Amino acid sequence: MRFDFIRADAMNRLSFAKIISVAQWWKENAGLMQVEVAALEPLLWREGEVRIGHVVAELKGMGFRVSMTSNGSLLARNAQELKEAGLDLLRLSWHSMSPDIYRKITGGGSLEKLIEGVRAGIDCSLSMSLNRVLMRGHTADLPEQLAFVDQHQLRLKLLDLYWTEESAGEYDRYYISPEEALEASVASGYVKLIQDDGQQRGRSRVRYLTPQHGLVEYKLKSTARKSNAVCNLCTKKSNCLEGYGDYFRVFPEGKSSLCYLRQDLAHSTYENDTFFISEHQPWGQELRKSISSTPLRLVLEGRCNFNCGFPDSVSSWCLKQGRGYQFPDRTGVIVREYQ
Ligand code: SF4
Repeated sequence: MRFDFIRADAMNRLSFAKIISVAQWWKENAGLMQVEVAALEPLLWREGEVRIGHVVAELKGMGFRVSMTSNGSLLARNAQELKEAGLDLLRLSWHSMSPDIYRKITGGGSLEKLIEGVRAGIDCSLSMSLNRVLMRGHTADLPEQLAFVDQHQLRLKLLDLYWTEESAGEYDRYYISPEEALEASVASGYVKLIQDDGQQRGRSRVRYLTPQHGLVEYKLKSTARKSNAVCNLCTKKSNCLEGYGDYFRVFPEGKSSLCYLRQDLAHSTYENDTFFISEHQPWGQELRKSISSTPLRLVLEGRCNFNCGFPDSVSSWCLKQGRGYQFPDRTGVIVREYQ
């Protein structure tokens, strides 16, 4: 896999000072002390001697519940540090049980390394759950993944394929609903329904248990929170999956947004290293209004060592595309075999 494309002088990341500043601001102004350290790949984050474990420990020390999303490729060497830092939950992206399909989806990733990381996490009792983006034609291995979840009593979240402008051409071909993907496992009785109700952060969840109490769940996309003035006028509304204001997102370039998809709704919220939301701008008032009931989501790192996309296409479905962040080229992994 090619990581050498990432040059130190071209890095785009939230500095430690900026992370602490937004966390401090959040503690003083917001209500919900929950932070998600989100993709792009947070285990790549480093500032001199300060490592991601220090960031987690600092956030924990301020009273946050801290979760993180990672592709897991570097987990084997970081699991113990994350555990000691007090990480509450690590969400791992695991989109296929087939090493070959996994490599093609991730743009060169190694399933072996991910499994090595998961085992390291299990060994040090790190709390982990799995995220899987579903793609039509590539779900035959789902029972195998359910068996892994069952064996280790993990949690698996099945995710709808996200629509992006860049991958719109492939979206219809590859989209498969979680209901359909799980159909055979439900029919065979391997997973049993335990919850099909209740609103959680604007989206209802459906939950199943495996025989040894592994948890399988998905959110109903029809229940995303989009009845508001901004979404009502949005041309992406029919394709958008998450609700407006489900999270308060801070991006590596220092902008913040309540929308996961549209860059034009992100605003600069730093003066040098100090986090600040204007009270005098309409967007500032809107951001401030949401913070009492919204978890914080920090995208620390402006690069990823994976570039996730369709297994037989160079097209990526990663939501962070088109924002000037750095990804490996999928072409080298895919073109040789399909073009
Ligand atoms: S893309 Fe953003 S603004 Fe548009 S409908 Fe979705 S959440 Fe609302």
